[in-house]
Amino acid sequence: MTADTVPRPTDTRMLANFVGGAWTPSAATDSLEDRDPATGELLARVPLSTAADVDGAVTAARAAAATWRATSPLQRARAVMALREVLNAHHDELAELVSRDMGKTLADAAAEVGRGIESCEAATAMPHLLKGENLEGVATGVDVEMIRQPVGVVAAITPFNFPAMIPLWFLPYAVAAGNAFVLKPSEQDPLPGERIVELAASVDAFPTGLINLVHGAHDAVNALLDHPGVDAVSFVGSARTARYVAERAIASGKRVQALGGAKNSMVVMPDADPELMAGGVMGSAFGAAGQRCLAGSIAVLVGTRAEQDAARDRIVEAAARLRTGPGLDPDTDVCPVVDPAAHARLVADIEQAAADGATVVLDGRGDPGPGGCLLGPTILDDVPAGHRAIEEELFGPVLTLVRAADLDEAIDLVNAGRYGNASVIFTESGGAARAYRYGVQAGMVGVNVGVAAPVAWFPFSGWKDSIDGDLHANGRDAVEFYTRKKVVTTRWAA
Ligand code: NAD
Repeated sequence: MTADTVPRPTDTRMLANFVGGAWTPSAATDSLEDRDPATGELLARVPLSTAADVDGAVTAARAAAATWRATSPLQRARAVMALREVLNAHHDELAELVSRDMGKTLADAAAEVGRGIESCEAATAMPHLLKGENLEGVATGVDVEMIRQPVGVVAAITPFNFPAMIPLWFLPYAVAAGNAFVLKPSEQDPLPGERIVELAASVDAFPTGLINLVHGAHDAVNALLDHPGVDAVSFVGSARTARYVAERAIASGKRVQALGGAKNSMVVMPDADPELMAGGVMGSAFGAAGQRCLAGSIAVLVGTRAEQDAARDRIVEAAARLRTGPGLDPDTDVCPVVDPAAHARLVADIEQAAADGATVVLDGRGDPGPGGCLLGPTILDDVPAGHRAIEEELFGPVLTLVRAADLDEAIDLVNAGRYGNASVIFTESGGAARAYRYGVQAGMVGVNVGVAAPVAWFPFSGWKDSIDGDLHANGRDAVEFYTRKKVVTTRWAA
């Protein structure tokens, strides 16, 4: 089978699940609409799959897991290399699909797909990463060795904002480590996940049933969390769902990594390079319309009042120049938000902040376009302490300005938040950057880098309420999460 001959769900666009190597209609009677946020065009209907659908996928995965585990780590790594090749060959097509389904600009979507492919590249090191430890002669004639074995069946439940990259944070590592896989993509933009699974199915080295996909929302997630045939759950989404998923998965005896929401601060020191700072803040706050878990949604302006105001003016001027429009338009800087409900929620947040005393220094509210999802860059100043626009993730192109007299005060402000995904400092001072790196409570830190996204060989390492669980996605953490350690103590007669 080649990537182009795999049977795929066609124009009825009621999506099918991928179970045991075949596109399989869901038993669901309910479905949701999946629309292009730029145009409002209906792209597909997403079945709200049932527990029976999930059971079929998990049963297929369990059957495949047994053979796959016995396949050598070298062959498994080669299969992931083949996946990397097929994804690379379809890179542009996947990027366009991401842009149409999620809304982000084509350049951003291309970068996302590239990051997903990077996880495949990192996972091809699995034969090396799986190697264990040993200690000879712990007693007379007694040796100890630690080996790693796959956990079995991994379920991945993923969010809308990176519909290609986040499934690929999990799939390559899980299968390279010897596990079978079930993906439950976001119901808001499931098409890139569907296409990735379809492309993976064209890799002959993966046995039938190894990689499965179940569409849907809460019922499908609950069924995965409760299913005794699922051994590990990788989740990415909002903090509230992450906590819920973690608790329910643990209650049914599974290991879980649940990466949650964020409220990331960008500290702007008075000595920051003005262009580096403005470019970094624009990309972080307004790229992907602020819908990244690494988006900087607070700018902490440090210095005297005059220095703070100068930084504010530079940020506002740069933001006012950004163009808001469809993701497929090459002139667009700020793409639509994911759906009209998100748009309405964000407009309400801006209205509420203004009613509570904030000054809207740049107002992105205007014509929401044919899809009802366009919202321009919006900047709030004078926001009262403790306000939702400071404390909570709004997940849109809304930047809140706060002020600090010096770096210590800035670090205290940043650390007061409940999240700890990322934090960024703009400065020309090595000393300030070092003090920030030392003191800030965030797992991903940028120095003059607006979006501090680690390459795949490092963990995606949020802290505090940005994660439930200990092990992160990517890097060695992925190997830890997708394997169980077994320690064997052996005695041989001398
Ligand atoms: P979400 O929590 O609404 O949905 C994520 C997944 O959980 C989806 O597959 C959805 O079907 C499922 N889900 C949602 N509510 C559920 C419920 N009550 N019961 C069972 N399943 C449920 O998140 P989203 O809006 O798709 O994604 C955006 C969020 O993800 C933001 O908060 C963002 O910060 C976060 N995020 C975090 C990271 C990270 O690495 N920490 C990365 C990307 C996105």
